[in-house]
Amino acid sequence: MINIERSFGGSVQGAFKHIYIEKEILNNQRVKSIIEHFPDSRIIVIDHYKDVFNRKRQDFILQHSSRNLILAAKKGRLVYDGAPVCQDFGNSHFYYTSCIMNCLYDCEYCYLKGMYPSGNLVIFVNIEDIFKEVEELLEKFPVYLCVSYDTDLMAIDNLTGFVLEWTEFTKKHKNLTIEIRTKCGRKDLNIEPCDRVIFAWTISPEPVIAKFEHGSASMRQRLEAASHYLESGWPVRLCFDPMIYIPSWKDIYGKMIRDVQKSIDMVKIRDFSVGSFRISESYLKKMRKAMPLSAAVQYPFVLDEGYYHYPDDLVDEMEIFLTGEIRKICPDAEIFRWAE
Ligand code: SF4
Repeated sequence: MINIERSFGGSVQGAFKHIYIEKEILNNQRVKSIIEHFPDSRIIVIDHYKDVFNRKRQDFILQHSSRNLILAAKKGRLVYDGAPVCQDFGNSHFYYTSCIMNCLYDCEYCYLKGMYPSGNLVIFVNIEDIFKEVEELLEKFPVYLCVSYDTDLMAIDNLTGFVLEWTEFTKKHKNLTIEIRTKCGRKDLNIEPCDRVIFAWTISPEPVIAKFEHGSASMRQRLEAASHYLESGWPVRLCFDPMIYIPSWKDIYGKMIRDVQKSIDMVKIRDFSVGSFRISESYLKKMRKAMPLSAAVQYPFVLDEGYYHYPDDLVDEMEIFLTGEIRKICPDAEIFRWAE
């Protein structure tokens, strides 16, 4: 039995009413092992995942609450240049890749709601093809690769095993560094650490988690997991990003940093990122239409060269405040601010 009950709000059995599988991967070993977890799901064979995922007039929000699963093999380009809204942590060759589209969690502000036409979960089982493309890049230069952007890879790892596969692949390639970002609280990954596999926790204050980060682990669970892997020898990053503007934000984010200090040895953290919420214009437009009552997306953001963000003085106030709180505890910490 896989341990993703919390994300599905109950038993895993029947978590996906339908599982769509591309016909060319019906005999794929990963497909077989994934569907074994869902004996009650109806299997539907399809030609191409886009026949289901890209259908017109889908309701992302509705679908997300009763998701179907699509198993596919990804074709075309598999590794992409890092997006301008994402922090590159000082790396010149910054890329990302997605072996999964959509996420078990349901953060109200998540850009996936504006980016994808469907709330269904897609798992691409041909991870070896992504590895090949990364190897081609590695022949030219060292690569910094984010592998958990369009999903939460760690949250769904009991189903896919991709965290282990990425770690083993990275261990074999000395000029590759990867980041696995998560909001999950699991501590049961039994993998030998690698100094080029960065486990990155997004840390938010409890009121933000309760209001906007539905289904994800609590702050305490995230910090316990981060501390566990830190003490086991993994490089750990803490991302205070996205900061969300809420009433009494300064008190709430200040308390959050004090709670982090109590739970984790902050001087051992590899680096920190601090960033207030920002999102591309087209995604926010779609999200506002789909979620007319969500405070996370209806805030009167400022539009600046295709991206919405809080007004500049608020961005500075929030990010400089949090950076200062971290520096009080770790004066020499490496802190990255996207705005810088
Ligand atoms: S954990 Fe990340 S990918 Fe998943 S819903 Fe939240 S913001 Fe989106």
